[in-house]
Amino acid sequence: MKEQNYLDHLVGVFGQPVAENPGVVIQDAAFQALGLKRWRFLTVDVDKDKLGDAIRGLKAFKMRGINCTIPHKIAVMEYLDEISQSAKLIGAVNTIVNDNGRLFGENTDGKGFMMSLESNGVDVQGKKAVVLGAGGAARAICVEMGLAGIADITIVNRVQDRSLGDELVAILRENTKAEVRYVDWDGPYSIPADTNIVVNATSVGLYPDVNDIPNINLDSITPDMFVQDVIPNPTETALIKEMRLRGIPCATGAGMLINQAALNIEMWTGLKPDKDVMYKALEEALT
Ligand code: NDP
Repeated sequence: MKEQNYLDHLVGVFGQPVAENPGVVIQDAAFQALGLKRWRFLTVDVDKDKLGDAIRGLKAFKMRGINCTIPHKIAVMEYLDEISQSAKLIGAVNTIVNDNGRLFGENTDGKGFMMSLESNGVDVQGKKAVVLGAGGAARAICVEMGLAGIADITIVNRVQDRSLGDELVAILRENTKAEVRYVDWDGPYSIPADTNIVVNATSVGLYPDVNDIPNINLDSITPDMFVQDVIPNPTETALIKEMRLRGIPCATGAGMLINQAALNIEMWTGLKPDKDVMYKALEEALT
């Protein structure tokens, strides 16, 4: 007789708006390829003032874990029993693991970024990076690069609000050995010639503004640099297309997203998913 066990293993994402979050597509493909037939990834619309109820629901349903996206990444921290060191520094959690009611929070955005660099043969040790943007993604990326031993980070952000950039510089100076500086972005920015890694951590190029490119002097990017985009949709941004035309080594934000999602699956299931399957599912969903 066949084993009769129809219990679902639940994970998912809490956010708002969340309907267009492609997490489910990537995760379902990974679960299927792993043969995890009863693992379900739920896309859950959670009001800003209902997060506490949602976390109680997560525990009541014995969900194995959850991703948090806008607007819950910071607010969720008060409900957790333990938070990783880097997530504390970043000041935001995007992945929660539920161990029998005990909630652990991690931030896998910057870790997915680091895995993307690694899979492209880029080691940050002793290197110099320029990071465009100072929002949540930039913060996660800078903290992970700082903890991994990068030598130098230049954060470039628009002038309207210096506080985000100043705060990030202070965190990095206090907690990492990196030389860090903040540059006002008030015109086409030229990447310094001794830069090794250039990161677009802004939302420039994100769907539907797919032809937008960050305001940088493209000729200042040379083939001895590596360009990493964070934009996951489209999978090939105008910036990445331009880099490929110019023969500049580069990696897409889709790769970072897949690595981040793969890490989440590993934290929840203990299994390593097939990233090619996940990437293919994402590309199909976005075209
Ligand atoms: P935030 O809103 O926190 O930050 C956005 C950043 O982009 C800010 O620094 C903002 O500058 C800057 N920015 C926006 N528009 C422009 C512009 N026209 N010119 C220059 N700078 C601009 O968002 P997040 O950091 O959370 O997300 C940023 C991007 O990263 C999003 O596209 C998101 O999809 C992507 N992301 C990708 C992940 C992945 O796994 N691939 C994971 C997480 C995020 P200012 O302060 O001046 O407004």
